[in-house]
Amino acid sequence: MYELLDFKTSKFAPSQAFLDVDYQFGLYALACADATFKSSDGTLRLLDIPPDRLKITWYHLRDHIPYKRKTKNNQIGDERGDPRRTTARSEEQIKSLKQDLSKVATNIRRGVFPRNPSYHTCPLCPYAEMCAKDSCGMGLNRNQKSQIQQLVQNLEEAA
Ligand code: SF4
Repeated sequence: MYELLDFKTSKFAPSQAFLDVDYQFGLYALACADATFKSSDGTLRLLDIPPDRLKITWYHLRDHIPYKRKTKNNQIGDERGDPRRTTARSEEQIKSLKQDLSKVATNIRRGVFPRNPSYHTCPLCPYAEMCAKDSCGMGLNRNQKSQIQQLVQNLEEAA
């Protein structure tokens, strides 16, 4: 069995439900199964780790911060608990992820980058100004707009 650790500094650890569907962790599993990595000696290497032999772990670094005050269950200096939140992906999930990626790649090749607004990411986004000015179809004919709508729909299905 292999374990991939992703060291996280965020304030809150995610729920198990989130970990089980998170796109980023799915990409890790796909990369471990199918991607080629450059090793330290410069050679390319396929990890070839099937999903059923891979654990993917959100390693919550903040769990190592010791308590400053004594609580009902903890002494001063105790760590906050096990920092590992682990998930895995099935062959089936990897297969549908590949289909999703193919749709996303098609959109990228065609130069279609639909917005994906979120109240988490937009406030910090360095492209927010550009994004707000996006013509969103201005100057396109009806056929082009319809093609873009179809591509956006594909991307939404893939998301
Ligand atoms: S502001 Fe940034 S994060 Fe939000 S939709 Fe636009 S590009 Fe995406």
